[in-house]
This record gives sequence, C-alpha cells and structure tokens, in this order.
Amino acid sequence: MLRRKIVAGNWKMNKTLTEARELVKSLQSLIGSDVQERVVLIPPFPFLGVLSSDLSGSSIHLGAQDCSAHAQGAYTGEVSAGALKSVGCSYVLVGHSERRGYHHEQETLLIEKTKQALLSGLTVILCVGESLEERLNGSQEQVVGKQIMSIWNALNDTERAQLIMAYEPVWAIGTGETASPEQAQSMHAFIRALIKDNYGDALADNLTILYGGSCNAQNAKELFACPDIDGGLIGGASLKADDFTKIVYSL
Ligand code: PEP
Repeated sequence: MLRRKIVAGNWKMNKTLTEARELVKSLQSLIGSDVQERVVLIPPFPFLGVLSSDLSGSSIHLGAQDCSAHAQGAYTGEVSAGALKSVGCSYVLVGHSERRGYHHEQETLLIEKTKQALLSGLTVILCVGESLEERLNGSQEQVVGKQIMSIWNALNDTERAQLIMAYEPVWAIGTGETASPEQAQSMHAFIRALIKDNYGDALADNLTILYGGSCNAQNAKELFACPDIDGGLIGGASLKADDFTKIVYSL
C-alpha cells in the first residue's frame, strides 16, 4: 500500500442513527468528490450498514472502531472483521488507547485482531501513544517503539504493508491539549525511522502515519504541514460537519 493522505473521524460512542445519517449527508455535500477519497468515517457499529448504503456513490470510506480477535463463533457481543467487511467497511481501528485503557487490551490480543482484520481485507489503523507520565519522564519513544515492534514483529511483510499507524499521545486525546507540531513531527519521524531500520526502506517510505489527539479545525493545517504527518485521526472535532470538513481541507 502506498503512502496516502487520510483524515479519519472516530465518532466513538456518539450519535443516534438519525443524527449519524444527518452528519453523513452534510459531509457528502460539504466535501468535494475530489477529496472524498481521503476521508474515512468511523461510526458506532450499529450504523455501519445504513451509512454504507447512504455513502454509495460517494468515495468516502467507512471504518469500524474495533473488531474481534476471532473469525466467528460463540463470542457474544463481539463483531468479526468479516462481518464488518460484509457491511461495507474497509478500515478498522486496532489498539485505540480507550480500548487499551478501559478494556485492558494488550499486545497478544491486538496481534490477533490485526491478523483477523487483514485476513478479511480490512486496512488496519493501528493506534499507539504514550501516557502523560511517560511523556513527562521522557520515555515516549521507548514506549511507542515497544508498542509498534511487539505487533509488527508478529506479522509478515505482506501484512505490514496493509497497516496504517496512528500516533495518538494519550495525554492529548479528548483533553483539548494537542501535541505541538514539533512534538508530533518528532514522534512521526521516529516511527518512520524505526520501521526503516527494522523492516526496510519500502515499508517505511510507504507507511501512512496519522496524528490524533485534540486535532481540530484551528490546528490541523500546521500539524498536517509536517513532513512525516500524513493526516489525522480525529475524535471530538469529527462530530461536527463544518469542523471536520475544515480539517479535511487542511490536508
Ligand atoms: C481519538 O479518540 O482518536 C481522538 C483523536 O480523539 P480527540 O480528537 O477527541 O482527541
């Protein structure tokens, strides 16, 4: 997969179906067909099928916030990657810090989720990021490096080529505190160099790395101008059509 420009909106556990459809309708009219290809909408599971129909005829992509580590079977409440693909998803988040934190998701599980997603033909947006404590004690590169390597080492090159990385410092998610462009660029450059050193030039040069963490209509342009930032994973600001559209046009 070649390096691309992407703005993905993670709606988390927000909106009713009616509100979700209204947002999609607004985005389809606000975002020109020439840039729709760069957009991924990541709504709650129950809306995926309907929104997929609403989006037919547009180039906006659909993603899911999580998937099961299992292909199918007696796993009540879980949603398989294959089911997501069958309702029109092409992307899935794996390892979002809210899943790692609230649901104690760890590397072994994240590897299985990643493999299941890739087997079903989904593109994985793999999220990594350090806590405030880790940033303050200066261990952010060590922490992020370990999060990445523990999953990348368990995959082969074909699988690695299907990954998109999202750097999301936990201290910046939903807090209104954004990493400065310098902090974000520095970590993105570190991630690309880490991939280059361990897996070679082609995977590093083609890797798409998104920034996430209180990215909004005001700060997106400066962040996206950084050479190793290929777009954003947007939470709160993806819930409002005007703000999200401004972010898409900041890319
Ligand atoms: C996120 O949850 O992925 C995120 C980036 O959230 P926010 O933009 O609200 O910080």
